[in-house]
Formats: sequence, structure tokens, C-alpha cells
Amino acid sequence: MKVPFVNLQAQHEPLQTEINLAIANVFTNTSFILGEEVNKFEEEFAAYCGVKHAIGLDSGLSALKLALEAYNIGEGDEVIVPANTFIATAAAVSFVGAKPVFVDIKPNTYNIDSAKIEAAITERTKAIIPVHLYGIPADMNEIMAIANQHNLIVIEDACQAHGAYYRGQRIGSFGHAAAFSFYPAKNLGAAGDGGALVTNDSQLNAQIKAMRNCGQKEKYVHVTTPYNHRLDTVHAAVLRIKLRHLDEWNALRRQKATLYHRFLLHSGVITPAAPNYTIPVWHLYVVRVQNRAALQARLNEQGISTALHYPLPLHLQPYYENLGHQRGDFPITETYADQILSLPMFPELSEEQIEHVANALKVFVATQELTIT
Ligand SMILES: *Cc1c(COP(=O)(O)O)cnc(C)c1O
Repeated sequence: MKVPFVNLQAQHEPLQTEINLAIANVFTNTSFILGEEVNKFEEEFAAYCGVKHAIGLDSGLSALKLALEAYNIGEGDEVIVPANTFIATAAAVSFVGAKPVFVDIKPNTYNIDSAKIEAAITERTKAIIPVHLYGIPADMNEIMAIANQHNLIVIEDACQAHGAYYRGQRIGSFGHAAAFSFYPAKNLGAAGDGGALVTNDSQLNAQIKAMRNCGQKEKYVHVTTPYNHRLDTVHAAVLRIKLRHLDEWNALRRQKATLYHRFLLHSGVITPAAPNYTIPVWHLYVVRVQNRAALQARLNEQGISTALHYPLPLHLQPYYENLGHQRGDFPITETYADQILSLPMFPELSEEQIEHVANALKVFVATQELTIT
């Protein structure tokens, strides 16, 4: 039995006719840039997140970068980010000229340890970017309390958590702004790169809408940095259709996570858990194991595709050599980086496929124990 890591064909097949029609419509109108579909998607996505504004952008990375720049964060400033995240979270900070300050993750979770944030705050700290990694919400109450006390901006990196809830409220509506990615494999994906910033800050909304569109508030009057970071109309048309299915897809992901959890109980594999006051959306289902490389190779031989998110923590990346970090600086992130394994996770995964993956894991762990003794 083959088990792919993701299966976008399965997601698109039932929607293909509708999607083709929507794309054809954009061609008929030739409204390729900031067409009506972009406005409509922005309204619908803002409503979905429970915020006033959404701004369609060309990627999640752009959303983070523009938010930082619009809040005047740059040279000489520091921004707190988790050590365990995708490069884009920290890269956005570097791109505006500020310094990413890493904080380790909380034991038995994959998100920033809010208890360690305070020690990382200096006079230069301007913002915190919590990440809802793998679709599991970060500790927003604790993080917002620290931010308020120290007068810091909070930009949620919600690029893996479209639709998740924290204490009954959608993530993306806690911070000053939140960045989403519509990279095709995300919970809500475009037909290529795309992203959005959502916010209740009307001034920020106006500023980012100008920045993404050549710095214009009116045509050929460039009032701010004249970037081109617009969401294409074709992507907005596709996203409008897919947004209507997002809650149903996320519910299916939660079912799959429950099945994995059940099949892997007492298996020696450490399964991921979300706090009971959150509703996660399982962008990824990341377990921890010993002897990961051998396990991954064994699964691969059996037609089971897995991945690593992320094998090398950001503070040890060659790009961040200049920050002078070394192994041991963020021990939990480092330990977990050697143990994590992302299992196949997508809404259309079948129960048989999950059982097959779980059995393969259990057989491997059992043989390992035999070889150790
Ligand atoms: C995908 C992702 C991003 C960036 O998204 P792009 O649209 O690829 O630029 C940022 N942060 C996290 C945690 C992500 O997973």
C-alpha cells in the first residue's frame, strides 16, 4: 500500500470543474491584478478569521515582512521568534534589518516556551512572532500578557494554522496582525504562492494595501515603499472556492490525528498533543522516535512517504552563522530536531492507510527494542 505525504489531486478532484470555471472567468474579465475576486476573498477571509481586515499578498513571508516594516521595526531592533520554525519566520525579521532573537520551545510541545520569553527581552526588543506550528496554537494568553507588559507588537505566524482555535477564538485574531501562507500544501492553498495579512488595525491595513501595490494610495502617487507583493486574482478565485471547504478539511485532519493517536498508543512512538483549550488543525502530524534515520528509510521502502520539519534548527543554519550561536543554546529544539518525523497527513487519508503507517512504526520500534537488549 502506497501512502503519499500529501495528496493535492484528491483535494482538487471534486472541485476541479468549479475551479476551472472561476479561472476562466478571470480570463474573460482579464482582471488579473487586484480584480474583484481579490476584494471578495479578503472580505471572506477576514470574516473567517474574525477580524476586520485581510490583505491578499504574494506569500506568507511577504505578510510577515510587510507587517514588521509597517510597524517601523528595522535596523537596531530585536524580534523574538521560536528556534523551532520554518526559516521564513526569522527571515522576515532579517529582511527588515532587525535581529531575530530565538527562544526555545516548551518541553513536550513544538511551540515557543512562553516562560522563556521574558529572559530574551532587551531594550531593543520590539516584537514577538509566535508561530502556531504544525497547526497547534501557541500560548496566546501568556504571550499577549508579556507583550502588553513590555509594549511589544505581536505578529502571529499563522502560516500552518488556518482555522485553528485558542480558547474558543480563531488564531490570527490575538496579535496586532497575523500572517497566513497559501502555499499549495498548506491547509488552505492557492494554485501557486500566495499569502495574507489579517488585522483589526485599520491604519495598518491601509499601509500594507499601499505597500503591496507599488506604495500607492492613489495611482502614481507613491506614499510608501513601492513593493509589488500583490495576491494574483487567479489565486483569489481559487482560494474563495477552497475556503468554503476549509472547516470540513480541518475536521477531517482532526479525525486522522485521532486515529494516529489511537493506533500508536503504547507503541513507544511519542505522538503530538494539543492543549485541551485549543482546536488544532494538524497541518502536520509530527511524532518523535529514536533512530529516526533508519525508521524513515524503512518506511520509505514500504511506500510510506514522510518528511522532517525541521531537521536543522534556525540558530544552527549557515544563514545565521553571523549570530554566533552554537549547539546547546536551545537544547529542546535541538533534541527534538533529531527525533521528529512528520507522518502522512491530509484530509483524504484513509483509515487503512493510517493503520498501515502505524503498524509499520510499531514493527520498527519492536525490532529496535530487541536489538538494544
Ligand atoms: C509556509 C510558512 C511560512 C511562509 O510562507 P510562504 O508563503 O512560503 O512564504 C512562514 N512560516 C511558517 C511557519 C510556514 O510554515
